[in-house]
Amino acid sequence: MKILIIEDEKRMAGILKKGLEEQTFIVDVAHDGEEGLYMAENYPYDAILLDIMLPIMDGLTILNELRSKGRDVPVLLITARGEIESRIKGLNFGADDYIVKPFDFSELLARLRSVIRRSKGKTSPVIAIHNLTIDTNSHNVRRAEKEITLSATEYNLLEYLALNSGRVISRSELTEHMYDTDIDRDSNVIDVYVNYLRNKLDKGFDRQLIHTVRGAGYLLKGEE
Ligand code: CA
Repeated sequence: MKILIIEDEKRMAGILKKGLEEQTFIVDVAHDGEEGLYMAENYPYDAILLDIMLPIMDGLTILNELRSKGRDVPVLLITARGEIESRIKGLNFGADDYIVKPFDFSELLARLRSVIRRSKGKTSPVIAIHNLTIDTNSHNVRRAEKEITLSATEYNLLEYLALNSGRVISRSELTEHMYDTDIDRDSNVIDVYVNYLRNKLDKGFDRQLIHTVRGAGYLLKGEE
């Protein structure tokens, strides 16, 4: 999952980025409102962490711009204790949730995962596809009760396919959600990771869950 942090306090942004990367998220950071809006409009994020008080353009203006253009990326507002009015305004402008500074990183993580899940139409943190289960909190992956150990990249690929299960995902969409914006992307690398995943998830089972759709991309589905 790819996250954009729009936060002008560099130390805070750095701590959040590091914490989220440890949880295998791919993280971009913008330090002012103008840059933040530009990135939010031009790159595909699975969620945005949006501070309200920002230089050049404040968070509520960014949110309003995004929503008025029909962009439905999940937005989690970062607000200060006193900012009750902005918080209400933010929710009315279409924010998905908010968190009040100072907060525990674990609470932020829980809220972030929750808004991402709901944006993909999932309510449970455990995604089940046939006899495959993926716990998106613990990153525990099992197929027919057998625990499967994945690298961070393999997990990210699987989680993206699973949160979008039943939909064909192109290589370029997968690449965009698995690498940060600065990295030179070659979507052929996706094929390599899909092969690793297949070896770990599908090998030895009658039913294949990862499907290649020629000329379109990949699809994770449980039904034949
Ligand atoms: Ca700020």
